[in-house]
Amino acid sequence: MKLFNKIGLVGLGLIGGSLGMAIKKNGLTDKVVGVSRKTKTIKKAKKIGAIDQGSLDFDILKGCDLIILCAPVKTIIRLFSHIKPYVNGAIVSDVGSTKLEIINAAKRYLPKNTDFIGAHPLAGSEKRGIASAEKGLFSGSLCLLTPIKTNKRANIRKLKLFWERLGAKVKVIAAEEHDKIISATSHLPHLTAFGLIAAIPESYFPYAASGLKDTTRIASSDPLLWTEIFLTNPKAVIKSIIALQKELAVFSGLIRKKDAKTLFDKIKRAKIKRDKLI
Ligand code: NAP
Repeated sequence: MKLFNKIGLVGLGLIGGSLGMAIKKNGLTDKVVGVSRKTKTIKKAKKIGAIDQGSLDFDILKGCDLIILCAPVKTIIRLFSHIKPYVNGAIVSDVGSTKLEIINAAKRYLPKNTDFIGAHPLAGSEKRGIASAEKGLFSGSLCLLTPIKTNKRANIRKLKLFWERLGAKVKVIAAEEHDKIISATSHLPHLTAFGLIAAIPESYFPYAASGLKDTTRIASSDPLLWTEIFLTNPKAVIKSIIALQKELAVFSGLIRKKDAKTLFDKIKRAKIKRDKLI
């Protein structure tokens, strides 16, 4: 059953492309249109069935009743002024990995009568671009919605239903809380992977086994995407880094003191905690 008449996706990469395919597969609208910077991306998006029509121009968004911004976070902020002439009553949303700066920018740049409702699907990978899009990406995933007081309840319900129909479980959370929690569960692991791979001499790579590959897979993520994520959530990210630095300092101290008992207990507690993560 369709939920929207025309859905517009701005940014047709891993998430935008996957979203288009999933929307069409689930019949949530009559028409999906996409905006990209490159004709090549539009062609590919059409070929894989992510959009019905695409353009380099934002005027293709005219008449959309849902517009979702699927670009890197700083770009999402810049996109508000480009889409402004075409939003006219549509629900505007995004998929950005940080929320507070995006919501504040939406308040500043979008018309007052526009309902901007932030969203963050916790699905994806270290891959990027339309070539990596998958129609089942959101199935069984969690999507966080970060509405604000001024959003219409009916629009929040509609966007929640939209993500549920794509197979996601939806949780509503305040943007501040989102940025704090995700800085620990996603931003810190990425920083750790970037730091970890930087700390290992490349000449040692032939001696690496699955442990290094498992712990650094996400260091292959897109550099621009992650630069913008860290810089739009600096306070929470720095807090998370400090928490990790403290843990590493404890390990370092115990190893220096050869305190086998405390080191064992600490590793055991970490193992028990990690085993609960499913
Ligand atoms: P991606 O594969 O690199 O896709 C980003 C897309 O944005 C690209 O197709 C790019 O276009 C497009 N773009 C950039 N600037 C643009 C502009 N000015 N106008 C129109 N399109 C523009 O990245 P992604 O993984 O899909 O990430 C998109 C968003 O989802 C980010 O905000 C990210 O934080 C969030 N997110 C990512 C994941 C994940 O695991 N990857 C998970 C959850 C949320 P071109 O085709 O021209 O390069």
